[in-house]
Amino acid sequence: MGWISNDNEHEGWAAAVAPDGRLSSSSSGQGILVEGITGRYQPDKMLPDYEVVPDREIVGWRGACDCGWRGELWERVPSPATADFSLRRDYVSPDEFANASTTVEDAIHDEWKVHLAPLEAVAGVEAAAREYNQAGRRLDKTVAAAKAAGASWTDIGRAVGISRQSAHERWADRH
Ligand SMILES: [Zn+2]
Repeated sequence: MGWISNDNEHEGWAAAVAPDGRLSSSSSGQGILVEGITGRYQPDKMLPDYEVVPDREIVGWRGACDCGWRGELWERVPSPATADFSLRRDYVSPDEFANASTTVEDAIHDEWKVHLAPLEAVAGVEAAAREYNQAGRRLDKTVAAAKAAGASWTDIGRAVGISRQSAHERWADRH
């Protein structure tokens, strides 16, 4: 039921929120499944570590991701007249399944994607840093080889694009 990030590191979903703040992991014909046993609700028959919160008791919805990210609450209001998308309020009849409406689910999906954006950008930095460090090690090796072959610090500095003095300071006492 979830959304998976391109790098497979994140799985998000639009979770239903129980009155005690717990989030749904799934739903069944009986209601919304939340993890943990408090004694306030019936335990699920298939999953004994989960309780079944009746659909009519669900107080809202929020984004969730298995990385721990949680979106802001979308509040469930008691009448269609008080529903207001701009105020994050939506109405779902107490007689229906308490899953988020398509509109709210789409909005939560967008919020989840916004949560991924900086993480994906940082992954780009990570890849570039890895290449940068590899290139740095290759540079050190080739400088050492050039020096061993008899090149001067002037020649090496010119090849790198720095002064003789800088090349000397950077590599002279590396060995
Ligand atoms: Zn995540």
